[in-house]
Amino acid sequence: MIVGIDLGTTNSLIAYFSEEGPRIIPNRLGKNLTPSVVSVDSEGKVYVGESARERMSLYPDSVAQTFKRSMGTERDYVLSGRHFRPEELSSMVLRALKEDAEAFLGEEVTEAVISVPAYFDDKRRKATKRAGELAGLKVERMISEPTAAAVAYGLYDKTQDTRFLVFDLGGGTFDVSILELYHNILEVRAVAGDNYLGGEDFTEVMAKLFLQKRGLQLQGMNGKEQARLYRQAEKAKCAIDEQGEVAMSFLYHEQMLEETITAKEYGDACEELLMKIREPVKKSLSDAGLKLGDIDEVLLIGGATRLSIVRDFLIRLFRKFPDTRLNPDETVALGAAVQAAMKERREEVREVILTDVCSFTLGTEVVVEYEEGKYEQGRFCPIIERNTVIPASHTERLFTVRDNQDMVRVRVLQGESRFAKNNLFLGELTVGIPKAPKGQESIDVTYTYDVNSLLEVEVTVTSTGVKQKMIIKDQENQMTDEEIRERMEQLAYLKLQPRDYEENRLTLLRAERMYEETLGDRRKMLDHYITAFEAALEKGGHDEIMDARKALNEILEDESQ
Ligand code: AMP
Repeated sequence: MIVGIDLGTTNSLIAYFSEEGPRIIPNRLGKNLTPSVVSVDSEGKVYVGESARERMSLYPDSVAQTFKRSMGTERDYVLSGRHFRPEELSSMVLRALKEDAEAFLGEEVTEAVISVPAYFDDKRRKATKRAGELAGLKVERMISEPTAAAVAYGLYDKTQDTRFLVFDLGGGTFDVSILELYHNILEVRAVAGDNYLGGEDFTEVMAKLFLQKRGLQLQGMNGKEQARLYRQAEKAKCAIDEQGEVAMSFLYHEQMLEETITAKEYGDACEELLMKIREPVKKSLSDAGLKLGDIDEVLLIGGATRLSIVRDFLIRLFRKFPDTRLNPDETVALGAAVQAAMKERREEVREVILTDVCSFTLGTEVVVEYEEGKYEQGRFCPIIERNTVIPASHTERLFTVRDNQDMVRVRVLQGESRFAKNNLFLGELTVGIPKAPKGQESIDVTYTYDVNSLLEVEVTVTSTGVKQKMIIKDQENQMTDEEIRERMEQLAYLKLQPRDYEENRLTLLRAERMYEETLGDRRKMLDHYITAFEAALEKGGHDEIMDARKALNEILEDESQ
């Protein structure tokens, strides 16, 4: 069975293709969303998801989150004194999802289609693939998130050519993609976005509005107080649409502060964020050579598109209602599962050709003769330009610049700068050429970039026909199979929490946090139920544990209202 995985910045999901179509697989807690949060304690025990997130306020030095943003970088995360790379943390999330899927499906899961943002470059895609390998998953195919969304909506089944805009506002990132369905080919035409804009900014606006109304300042609050304020603001943000206003409360300096915030006040305060949203929409349209009115359908994905101020803003902008039939949190994972089914050549799904765009420019370093006999070194010559539809293959002919030049070095670079030194070096290739006066000998440099983000570079000496080829591998980041195996073994020592314990642990962590947040009689009552639950855990009787957990959970539910 090939599964589909949405490895998100805030939450991750795993889905499979059932007889009734794509379905999300619930995790060990029965939830569809697993927070992309990892915690490792001093004994090397690994927590993934909600229990890891709960540990944030009590043991912040043991928790990592939003590591998707650092995928493909050398960033070092230290959790309880142990060092991890972003892909290793991601691999722990994938391991947990894989285990949950195996328990649910009753079979081993060894292969996956994983979604990645359309703008992810080669390094980040390779890091994602490595994360899969470290989790024991073969990642044959990656699908870009907007393509997955379109696939989940079944848009590839349309008979007419259609243009879609996929609007993805997640927790901390914002992506806009324009896709075109043309003769059975689903093509990403342009991508744009803002890596530092998302639902969390809307939470921050809510928190600041509350403080402003109470005449308080964020500065001067300690970390725990700020975390508590943001948690309350997050709740208020999600609730405001239903009632047109929301009552937000916050325990500060032993005093419970309450304030009502109206939808109008909140909408006004979010105006600046809405202006920021407009920019990538405009940029993607202009890159694709389209106008607002050319878009046939708007699809919403990402949890923050549930905000009605965002939806209303889009309706005003596009003058049409976005398609929201699917749950915006689940769309990408469902699309990845459909792609997995296409890969398995399941009869239920028609195969379509999915293309993508290259979100950066690939080129090489050249010497430019700007006047007779005067040269400028180190210039960048684009070969495959940003937003080119891939798979793509482009050739550039380059001539010798010196008399009797007997070799050419082709440096492969990625980036947008006119100067080679400012772009990212991916690899190099050297070819010998016959000696001749300058400008007489030439080479053809062909770059072929495929949907799996493999760049093949081929250099042909025009006069002799001699060819040299290489597949670009990420140099410093590349791990050999042997290294991956070794690191897998090391990571395997870090045990994921057994599935059964997860819920008990989560309840206790929640209760401990809630204890810190309450006062007086409520605190005493909480203490009583925590002690009873701990005593039940100590004794180990299954029914007793279940009863005590249920009682404690009920109190926690009441307290968090
Ligand atoms: P994602 O990264 O796609 O999981 O999106 C997470 C973001 O969606 C967070 O900022 C959440 O606060 C936000 N979100 C989830 N549900 C809602 C809701 N009902 N209303 C507003 N925002 C929401």
